Amino acid sequence: MLYLIKNIHIYAPEDLGIKDVLIGGGEILRIADQLPETPDYGMEVLDGSGKVLMPGLIDAHVHILGGGGEGGAKSRTPEIMLTDITLGGVTTVVGCLGTDGCTRTMSNLLAKAKGLEEEGITTYVYTGSYQVPVRTLTGSIMDDGILLEKVVGTGEIAISDHRSSQPTKEEFARIVADTRVGGILSGKAGLVNIHMGDGEEKLAYLRYVLENTQIPPTNMLPTHINRSRTLMEDGIDYAKKLGGYIDLTTSSDPDFLEPDEVKASTGLKLALEAGVPEEHITFSSDGQGSLPVFYPDGTLKGLGVGKVTSLYREMRDAALTEGVGLSRALKAVTANPAALLKLSRKGRIAEGADADLVMADEKSLAIDLVMAKGAVLVLGGQAVVKGTFEE
Ligand code: ZN
Repeated sequence: MLYLIKNIHIYAPEDLGIKDVLIGGGEILRIADQLPETPDYGMEVLDGSGKVLMPGLIDAHVHILGGGGEGGAKSRTPEIMLTDITLGGVTTVVGCLGTDGCTRTMSNLLAKAKGLEEEGITTYVYTGSYQVPVRTLTGSIMDDGILLEKVVGTGEIAISDHRSSQPTKEEFARIVADTRVGGILSGKAGLVNIHMGDGEEKLAYLRYVLENTQIPPTNMLPTHINRSRTLMEDGIDYAKKLGGYIDLTTSSDPDFLEPDEVKASTGLKLALEAGVPEEHITFSSDGQGSLPVFYPDGTLKGLGVGKVTSLYREMRDAALTEGVGLSRALKAVTANPAALLKLSRKGRIAEGADADLVMADEKSLAIDLVMAKGAVLVLGGQAVVKGTFEE
């Protein structure tokens, strides 16, 4: 199917102004001020007036298989469904395992990623879980990266956390080194996604790698940086002094943040104001992991499931409420993760890029249409394509 979107304000994520966009064969074919309608080609014309066109969001940390389990087996969260992802404008996810690397396995994670890809979006995975030594599929981090197409790195490796395997700094450096070489040999990112707990060491392990090896900062992405003000401050220092990259988690309920927790949209503003280069900040949802749910009076109700749709909410809040602006807010969920993950066809609106697109109201940013690889999955804010087992 060919689509022509007329008169739409493009954020690529840079502001390109109002243009026409031609889409076909799963990619963006042409962007120009005016493109002709050619009905003979069976072209569908969409009116973009009053709307913005953004790249499909990239969520680089999703427990697609489910996560949790920290309150016993009954607290293991269920698998994600396609529309849990697409209704939030997300068209690319990187799946990962978390605390539980025993009942959640790499073969199962790969199968789930493959299933979501068959249902219409783009998926990758990290090899491993919190655990060190890393439990891989083939027996080695490097072999997983080289031989398994969907493996773009290792993670989420837990440090500074009571649930971590408490690796030494040398062990941690070895994981990053093997992941990097696996990435080099397979032409992929070789990124280590690092779960940051609330331990006092904070980013010391990552500093150790940058100060004692030749590994560049682009191979490490520490996440949950906004879990506390102090970790946020260390993250800002790490990004400014060592050129590091930091990832803020979006899935916490904004009405029930931990006392010291920083809302992701606010964290982006703080980091930018502190002088962190905008290319060095990303958001991910931690979606489908377990999340405490509270009654309105603040008492614990039970466990819920983190939402991938929180990624879009925090991007929108950064753009509209925090005054960061749409272009800079979008970078944290499109161009920046695409660059770190070395996904050259993703995260931007350009001729030749994959047609992963979100169309939204220019004022409210309410999502109207979501397209992945040139196919419409969400229209009028409703899912028109559902996962295999969705009602
Ligand atoms: Zn985590």
